[in-house]
Amino acid sequence: MITSDAFRGKRYVVLGLARSGMATVEALLASGADVTAWDRRPGPREALAARATIADPLEIQLAGFDGVVVSPGVPLNTHPIAERARAAGVPLIGDIELFAQARAGLPPHKVVGITGTNGKSTTTALIHHILQTAGVPTTMGGNIGLPILGQDPLPGGGVYVLELSSYQIDLTHTLDCDIAILLNITPDHLDRYENFEGYAASKARLLKMQSRDHLCIVSRDSPASFNIYQDLRDHRPRGNVLSTTQDDVADQSAWPTLKGPHNAENVAAAKAACKNLRLTDQQTERGLRSYPGLPHRMERIGEHIGVLFVNDSKATNPTATAPALAAFPRVHWIVGGLPKSDDLDECAPHFGHVVAAYTIGEAGPHFADILEPHMPVERCEMLCEATKRAIAAAKPGDTVLLSPACASFDQFRDYETRGDVFRKIVAKLTGQPAAAAELCEFSARSAA
Ligand code: ADP
Repeated sequence: MITSDAFRGKRYVVLGLARSGMATVEALLASGADVTAWDRRPGPREALAARATIADPLEIQLAGFDGVVVSPGVPLNTHPIAERARAAGVPLIGDIELFAQARAGLPPHKVVGITGTNGKSTTTALIHHILQTAGVPTTMGGNIGLPILGQDPLPGGGVYVLELSSYQIDLTHTLDCDIAILLNITPDHLDRYENFEGYAASKARLLKMQSRDHLCIVSRDSPASFNIYQDLRDHRPRGNVLSTTQDDVADQSAWPTLKGPHNAENVAAAKAACKNLRLTDQQTERGLRSYPGLPHRMERIGEHIGVLFVNDSKATNPTATAPALAAFPRVHWIVGGLPKSDDLDECAPHFGHVVAAYTIGEAGPHFADILEPHMPVERCEMLCEATKRAIAAAKPGDTVLLSPACASFDQFRDYETRGDVFRKIVAKLTGQPAAAAELCEFSARSAA
């Protein structure tokens, strides 16, 4: 685990004891800090009772603590902890901020931080993979992989590759990335910000935290990120602000898991970062060719009687779904969930690829109204029902695509569960169609 003398003798509150909260508590305790911990579930409280003070931070005096560590899932715009911490003058931080504070004691290393609306995980995993195949000590963390404080420090010369959501950036104040990457910014998570500008400003803070002599790489592929690039270019030394675009990448044919213009955007940024990390073009190319891809992102989960099944459960907004619709010529599109936007405008240019749409979840009825003038729509509500109907209608050469353009929380614990349930439904339905009824029940139970 990563520990630091910077925490010794200090007092922290840790709110939220899931994976990263628990790793934070362990790292702080091992560093000699005094920890007060809380979670609404009794299990993790009991697990820590002998080593930490267990108390609800909404019910204790916060003045005098050195930090309130919250999970990025806590909505700072509405949760009372934010106001209480501010009133007590205690910084609200996350585990990435603690990592930033611990960096001075780590062997010499670099940090690559990646943010943006879509493509963060892919770009993070890709850079990590390229470094790994080139033999550079590296680990990834933040919004992907294992909690960063729970991981062992890298030896000298290592590279920490961090995926950072805007929520994590909001809880980070001193992370000076050697390389910061900003991908596209499009409307998302607007329930957590006053408006789109507030959301974009949150992402831009990753770059504002950098020293002037460190490198930032900004995608020109969305107007919002392009504006940020122009602003930075005017204020930073020449050469420390690079902009990349999907058009930088001419030929993707040698990279089986990095198809489509959206992945060209991710690759362009990853290549620029690897160059700055002094990898040769050959080393980078080797990584691009062998990159295995991530589950739930346009993941081909199987073929049955000539019909391809694709799990794109991670597409939680219309901008992320658009490339999936573009990628396949005849799509049976399972769409819906907890909506993040009122429209599907970003997907509209690819409606011609859709043979039929199967709407599910809370957004289902509204999306059906939007789509009906453009394509046949089946109102299904449940994922199992939608998959069953799509399989029944699909012909050889067609693709059954789960790319919901919505969050999953109305029916599933998270997007991974949604994708896993889809995978199971497809396996069962294509293997033994008679089990369909039983499976729909299974799907309803998993949803709970
Ligand atoms: P994030 O971590 O930012 O959510 P992922 O790499 O997990 O990004 O991809 C999420 C979804 O967005 C997937 O459906 C993927 O196909 C799509 N996607 C990936 N990169 C991009 C991009 N650069 N622009 C638009 N969509 C993308």
